[in-house]
Amino acid sequence: MATADVLKPDFQSGKKHFIFTDDHEQLRQSIRSFVVRELQPHSEEWEETTFPDWVFHRMGELGFLGLSYPEEYGGQGGDYYCNIVLAEEMVHAHSGGLAMGVAVHTDMATPPIFLFGTEEQKQRYLVPSIKGERISCLGITEPDAGSDVSGIKTRAVRDGDEYVINGSKTYITNGHRADYIVLVTKTDPDAGYDGFTLFLVDMDSPGVVREKKLEKLGMHASDTALLAFQDVRVPAEAILGGVGKGFYHIMWELQGERLIGAAGAVAGAQRCFERTLDYAKERTAFGRPIGRFQAIRHKFAEMSTKIEAARQLVYMTAWRFQNGEYPVREISMAKLYSARVACEVADECIQIHGGAGYMKEYGIERVWRDMRLNRIGAGTDEIMLDVIGRSYGI
Ligand SMILES: Cc1cc2nc3c(=O)[nH]c(=O)nc-3n(C[C@H](O)[C@H](O)[C@H](O)COP(=O)(O)OP(=O)(O)OC[C@H]3O[C@@H](n4cnc5c(N)ncnc54)[C@H](O)[C@@H]3O)c2cc1C
Repeated sequence: MATADVLKPDFQSGKKHFIFTDDHEQLRQSIRSFVVRELQPHSEEWEETTFPDWVFHRMGELGFLGLSYPEEYGGQGGDYYCNIVLAEEMVHAHSGGLAMGVAVHTDMATPPIFLFGTEEQKQRYLVPSIKGERISCLGITEPDAGSDVSGIKTRAVRDGDEYVINGSKTYITNGHRADYIVLVTKTDPDAGYDGFTLFLVDMDSPGVVREKKLEKLGMHASDTALLAFQDVRVPAEAILGGVGKGFYHIMWELQGERLIGAAGAVAGAQRCFERTLDYAKERTAFGRPIGRFQAIRHKFAEMSTKIEAARQLVYMTAWRFQNGEYPVREISMAKLYSARVACEVADECIQIHGGAGYMKEYGIERVWRDMRLNRIGAGTDEIMLDVIGRSYGI
């Protein structure tokens, strides 16, 4: 901010957003330096091989897998904004699949254990997950039911002190590497939303079959599984959060998943924007850097305006979430808008790169492929619109 009588725009201002403290910024620096030094160099290789499990072990060692969990479980005792920082900094790995695999563990599969789990379940699953010693996955989607979670068919039937689980789950991130799954089942098909129950199932239990590694458009560094559950017997202690409560629990889980996904999408769009800006300053055509053409400059203006708007929506919604609200409408808005902006930005960045944008070596086409998932995973655009629309009572 200028103090003299002439006020000039301060484009270099780096003031942090009000939700972040100096501690968050320090955390940001330490995550970024780890990601850039230890993960980013492998991004090309992991596109071919999927990323290795040591990433979890190493991140556990560094304390990055339990940023907002209490210290008594091995966490760092931070707030929700720490998870936002992690999601934002993971984009520097230049590997959407890696960021997604980690986010499934930190912000999708383990939060229900912390919130709804018994002490014994926390010791058995949450504590080693925070250490990076046990890897998790989350099983909601089935071959015949994705958006319509209430249409799932996986059944858990009580048999004495045990439950017998039959069914299948698909598109499960970390499904091949995971040590356990947070599994959504139906325990009472006639009870509507009260007929669902979550289970914690060890993936080496007899009857759990990791059927197929699924090939995808993007996110190649992640593993995506088709899973079958064939007469899998689990004790009643494997129930997570109470019989008949599963639907509500998983709807709660999805809110955190969507908000973290939105934060990652915005950060990914920002990173893509910056890489493309560098390119537009260097690449020349007709005797000048391409960024000097008004048509290209306006693309950057459009992109940065939308990225900034999406970021503010994510931060404001995170602030409400952190402060005890359950802002489902705003989370849906943040998820919808960020995903759309991220896809639009990735597409424009390819355009600005020209032929180079289409080539693998520049990495922009990969961002475009990876980003596309944001409009589908964790609830499609259409489902987000429906949640938002219905929230007005129509
Ligand atoms: C790479 C990847 C990783 C994933 N990881 C996981 C995971 O770890 N765990 C997990 O459980 N799931 C995971 N998913 C699944 C993901 O959440 C679902 O794909 C998503 O929710 C959509 O479900 P669907 O694919 O069955 O699409 P469908 O539900 O079949 O939808 C098809 C189309 O119909 C539209 N549609 C459906 N219902 C409505 C409606 N009421 N109104 C308007 N339009 C509608 C949809 O928007 C979409 O355009 C993953 C998916 C992918 C691709």
